Amino acid sequence: MSDLEAFRAETRAWLEANCPASMRAGVVMDEDSSIWGGRRAKWSNPEGKLWLDRMAAKGWTAPTWPKEYGGGGLSNAEARVLQQELAHIRARPALMSFGIWMLGPVLLEYANEEQKKEHLPRIVRGEIRWCQGYSEPGAGSDLAGLRTQAIDKGDHYLVNGQKVWTSYADQADWIFCLVRTDNSKKHEGISFLLFDMASPGVEARPIKLISGASPFCETFFSDVKVPKKNLVGKLNGGWDIAKRLLQYERQNISAGGFGGGGGTGGYDIEHAHAALEHAGSDEGRIADRDLRARICAHKMEARAFALTVRRAEEESKQGKGPSAATSIIKYAAAKINQDRTELMVEALGTQGLGWEGQSFKPGELAATRAWLRAKGNSIEGGTSEVNLNVVSKRVLGLMDHQ
Ligand SMILES: Cc1cc2nc3c(=O)[nH]c(=O)nc-3n(C[C@H](O)[C@H](O)[C@H](O)COP(=O)(O)OP(=O)(O)OC[C@H]3O[C@@H](n4cnc5c(N)ncnc54)[C@H](O)[C@@H]3O)c2cc1C
Repeated sequence: MSDLEAFRAETRAWLEANCPASMRAGVVMDEDSSIWGGRRAKWSNPEGKLWLDRMAAKGWTAPTWPKEYGGGGLSNAEARVLQQELAHIRARPALMSFGIWMLGPVLLEYANEEQKKEHLPRIVRGEIRWCQGYSEPGAGSDLAGLRTQAIDKGDHYLVNGQKVWTSYADQADWIFCLVRTDNSKKHEGISFLLFDMASPGVEARPIKLISGASPFCETFFSDVKVPKKNLVGKLNGGWDIAKRLLQYERQNISAGGFGGGGGTGGYDIEHAHAALEHAGSDEGRIADRDLRARICAHKMEARAFALTVRRAEEESKQGKGPSAATSIIKYAAAKINQDRTELMVEALGTQGLGWEGQSFKPGELAATRAWLRAKGNSIEGGTSEVNLNVVSKRVLGLMDHQ
C-alpha cells in the first residue's frame, strides 16, 4: 500500500468515527446551519461545535498550513485526499472562515513570527471570526482611493473613517483593514492593519439586501486605538498585501465560496427532480427541449470549469500561490453561478418565485434567494469589468487605458 493509500484509509476511518451524523448532510450554505465560529457563535446544533473542535484539533480546518501554527501540515496530495473523503461522506464544512480563505495565507507570507503565532492558531480553531475592511464609499473598484486614516500616535495608530459592504462585520471579532498612512502617495500610502472589532470607536450597521438577508454592513471608525504591533508588513507597504489577499479571495470564490452566500440550500440543478415536475417531465427528462438543452450545456460548462479550477489550484500550490490569472476564473465563476441560479428559478416556474409561506418547499425558497444573492457575484471580490481589466493588463500584457 502506498503512503497516500494508507493516508486515505486512516482518514476514512477517522472521519467515520468522528464526523457526527448531522454533519453529513452535504453542503448547506445558509447562515443558520453554516459554521463560522467566533466569539459570538450560536451553537443551535451542538454537533456543529463538536465537528469543528475535532477537525481543528487535527489542524484539518486549514489542512496545508504548517503544524506549528495549528494547521494540518498535510502535503497538497494529502489535502486533496482529505477533501475527497469529506465529499465522500457529504460532510459539511467544519469551518467557514475569511481567516482561512483570505487572511491566513497572507499572514503566512507577510506577517512576523509573533503575529503568526497570535492569529493563525485561533483562525484554525475557529475562535476568532474575521471580516474584510477594504471597500469604502468612493473606493470600491478604485480601492487605492481609500481614505480611512491611521495616524501615528507613538505606541499606537488612531484610526478614523468609514468602510462599506463589510461582510458580517456585525458578527466578526476582528477586522483586517486597509488604512491610509501617507496622504502624499496613492498606492504607496496604504498600510494593512489588524484590530479587534470590540475596540472602542468601532460601529457596524447592517445593510439589508433584496434577498432579505443582511450579510454586510457599513462600518465606522471613530478614534479607534490600534496597537502598532498590529501592523502587518511594512508601513505604507499594505498595497502588495492587499492585492495578494484579493488573489486568494478570488481563488476561493472561484472554488465555490462566494462568501458562503451563494448556495441553494442543497437544492441544485443536480437535485432538481422537483423542478422536472414543474417544467413537465417526459420519462424523467425535462419536456421543454430548449430548457433541457440549456441545462445540459450549463452542466457541461460547469463541469469543465470545475476541472479547470482544480488544475489552476494544483498549479498555484506547485508554484508561488495564485496569480493574476485568478481574475479569469473569478469572472467565469460569477457567470456560471448566475446562470445556474437563473436556470433553477426558470425550471421551477412559479414555484421559483416564492418568498415565504407553506405553498413553497424550503429548497424552492432557498433557490429563489440564491438567485437574488447571485446578482452580487459579479461585484464581490472585484467586479467582472475590473477582473477583465486585470486579465487584459496582467495576463495578456495589453496597454492600460485607465
Ligand atoms: C456580496 C458582496 C460582499 C462584499 N463583501 C465585502 C467585504 O467583506 N469587504 C469589503 O471591503 N468589500 C466587500 N464588498 C464590496 C466589493 O468589493 C465592491 O462592491 C466592489 O469592489 C465594487 O466596488 P463598488 O461597489 O464601489 O462599485 P464601483 O467601483 O463604483 O463600480 C461601479 C461600476 O463601475 C464599473 N467600473 C468601475 N471602475 C471600472 C473600470 N476601471 N473599468 C471598467 N468598469 C469599471 C464596475 O465594474 C461597476 O459595474 C462586497 C460586495 C458584495 C456584492
